[in-house]
Amino acid sequence: MGVNYLNSNNSPNQLEILHLNSEQATHLVIDRARQLVDQLVERRGHDKPPFLPEEFVRLQDIKQIVKADLGETSAILLRFHDGYVIKVNESHHPLRQNFSCAHEIGHILFSELKLERYTRTIEYRTFNPQGEERARAQARERLCDIAATELLMPELIFRKYLSGFGISIHSVERLAKIFKVSIQAAVIRVAEVSPEPCIALLWRPDTRTKSKALRLVRRVSPGGKVRGKTNYVPAHALVRSPSTLHKAYQDDSPVKSSKLFKVDNAVKRLPVESKGFGRGENRYVISLAFLDR
Ligand SMILES: [Zn+2]
Repeated sequence: MGVNYLNSNNSPNQLEILHLNSEQATHLVIDRARQLVDQLVERRGHDKPPFLPEEFVRLQDIKQIVKADLGETSAILLRFHDGYVIKVNESHHPLRQNFSCAHEIGHILFSELKLERYTRTIEYRTFNPQGEERARAQARERLCDIAATELLMPELIFRKYLSGFGISIHSVERLAKIFKVSIQAAVIRVAEVSPEPCIALLWRPDTRTKSKALRLVRRVSPGGKVRGKTNYVPAHALVRSPSTLHKAYQDDSPVKSSKLFKVDNAVKRLPVESKGFGRGENRYVISLAFLDR
């Protein structure tokens, strides 16, 4: 949908945009999150990570963050006449709590920026009457995740550390520790902002079969404008045992291998580094595939 402008009566020079597309909404929410980070950096007098949700509280009219028994819910945002309260699931891992709180701050930015202008334009063409509402909710949650990512791992600062460490699984672990985020959040951010283009892959045991295969459950393509729209997709989303991925799943040390990727109707072999994380049912494997190595 196009962009409609409305002249405000009070200040004729100021234009209010009534409708936004996905790119514009994303841009607005990232910009606002960056402003918050800048304010925080100025207030503290340094830009050293981590950037914790508690630090943003005073900047954003949040009265407090309360740990509570929320069942399955990660966090909720309560609005009072004198400010907000964030309730976060006390049973979740502290790193996940950080992301959940930052996501709720994302909701505050979302309403501040009136981004429902964008989600209102989303139509889901289906016979299912709930489909449209679900598509709008997904778009809203995605924007709040984008805001949370920028608050916890500000792009420029994260990239500076990443460049210093070099791009590897070991760096992902170091970055997760320094920025106090989960391994999964850190590896996604690495793929998004890495100066050297790489793809992040997340594998979990395939629960649909009893074959002990590992299934690709998430893929994050290189961010930025470097690669344009080129899309690298692993030739095999299901990997059967034995494999180097299974070795990574079983051991705790990184494993180097190579993998076939489909790209523009061709197949290319890329070097890959993989490592297993988590325990028991939550065990998963993270891979980084390097486009230019
Ligand atoms: Zn949400």
